[in-house]
Amino acid sequence: MSSSKKDRRRLPPPDPAPLPGLIDAHTHLAACGGRTPEAVKEILDHAESVGVTHVVTVADDMVDARWAVEAARWDCRAFAAVGLHPTHAGDLTDETRAELEQMLTEPRVVAVGETGLDYYWTTRSDDCADPSTQRDVFAWHIDLAKRTGKALMIHNRDADRDLLDVLKAEGSPDTVVMHCFSGDRHVADECVDRGYYLSFSGTVTFANSDELREAAHITPPELMLVETDAPFLTPHPYRGQPNQSYCVPYTARALAAVKGLGDADMAAILGANARRAYSLPLR
Ligand SMILES: [Zn+2]
Ligand SMILES: [Zn+2]
Repeated sequence: MSSSKKDRRRLPPPDPAPLPGLIDAHTHLAACGGRTPEAVKEILDHAESVGVTHVVTVADDMVDARWAVEAARWDCRAFAAVGLHPTHAGDLTDETRAELEQMLTEPRVVAVGETGLDYYWTTRSDDCADPSTQRDVFAWHIDLAKRTGKALMIHNRDADRDLLDVLKAEGSPDTVVMHCFSGDRHVADECVDRGYYLSFSGTVTFANSDELREAAHITPPELMLVETDAPFLTPHPYRGQPNQSYCVPYTARALAAVKGLGDADMAAILGANARRAYSLPLR
């Protein structure tokens, strides 16, 4: 890589034109550097300056879950999701179960996740939980969402069929969010039939994502969410540069183009969907 290209990859993307009413349906504030009240405020001030009024910050592991709950306590623009990422499914013990259940009693913790299945890392990392552990721990999270009445936030990588089968076998909770939806139109169809929300990240803007845009095209607007999954998956043309919640308008505009809607209308729909999906306690 040339040095100028390397330099560019460290640079945050420029601010998009503001697009009011958006909510980042899935981000990782701690991984974006938000580990103090001041740092969280800075990230959320930046997001709010371009119309992203609220975010749901999500846990990968127990350390992350504690950060997510803290962020939601520090700043009224942040809500939390707690759970164990499928790659960390091996961390589920009596103690971590009890801690996650306790966290979910907080009104500002609005979802269980991210949980699901990840078959990409099972063959690429020695630390990744095996598929059968992932399945058992996913089932526990599904039950937890049902018991607490909170949304279930799904992570799915290379596991479409098994994931949908486990959800069907266990019985879906009332609200299911397919975070960073990555399936084709057939998977989208099945999710829509079941009433799941499809949350689209910057990947829907990538040049090679025609199949994903097709999935977005057939998804009814009222089941669509927009997210960053920051600090990763920065939208085109800033792919590879650091992502943050203020970048949501780039992806929201791409979704508006796919749906043939005006940017402001799309943003209003996406914002309203996030409020409903997570039952956000907002006025
Ligand atoms: Zn994920
Ligand atoms: Zn994530």
